[in-house]
Amino acid sequence: MQIDVKDLKEQVTHLAFSAKPEEIGFSGEAVFDGPVKVSVEVHDMSERYRVVGSVAATVKIDCGRCLKKFKVKLTPGFDVIHVKDAPEDEGEIPPSETDELAMEGDIIDIGEDVRQTLLLDLPMNPVCGKNCKGLCQTCGSDLNKKKCGCDEPSLNKPFAGIKNILKKKK
Ligand SMILES: [Zn+2]
Ligand SMILES: [Zn+2]
Repeated sequence: MQIDVKDLKEQVTHLAFSAKPEEIGFSGEAVFDGPVKVSVEVHDMSERYRVVGSVAATVKIDCGRCLKKFKVKLTPGFDVIHVKDAPEDEGEIPPSETDELAMEGDIIDIGEDVRQTLLLDLPMNPVCGKNCKGLCQTCGSDLNKKKCGCDEPSLNKPFAGIKNILKKKK
């Protein structure tokens, strides 16, 4: 996913990319379903290029409760600045707070921007659905499919107690 700035004719240029995950450096961090698509706006700020991108990709992940694989569509965005010929030997330039990246010649390579953006957007505690019941702690059955008949853990008892107290107050 490279942009040659010599091709940029306008102040703002819209571009679209599509790539296989491995083409932008993924190697098993996530299981993708289809390509990674990116649309970007490149702002030419003379020797500095602001790249505002939106990414779209679908990943297959395991539900943290029932362990079933399910698909999640990720649509994160990024906003970075690529700087041409960043002076190295002047040493006076303070490190910038914004994401400024050095370019290789005239080429802006957004592959790593896209990869980092997607990695940050992967869900930490994926659940296949709000109502996923998960697996039985005793026998391991998928409780979304069937009720296994094991004794329910004694979670209900404290609530029953509260109900009784509430009743007495009325
Ligand atoms: Zn689930
Ligand atoms: Zn069970």
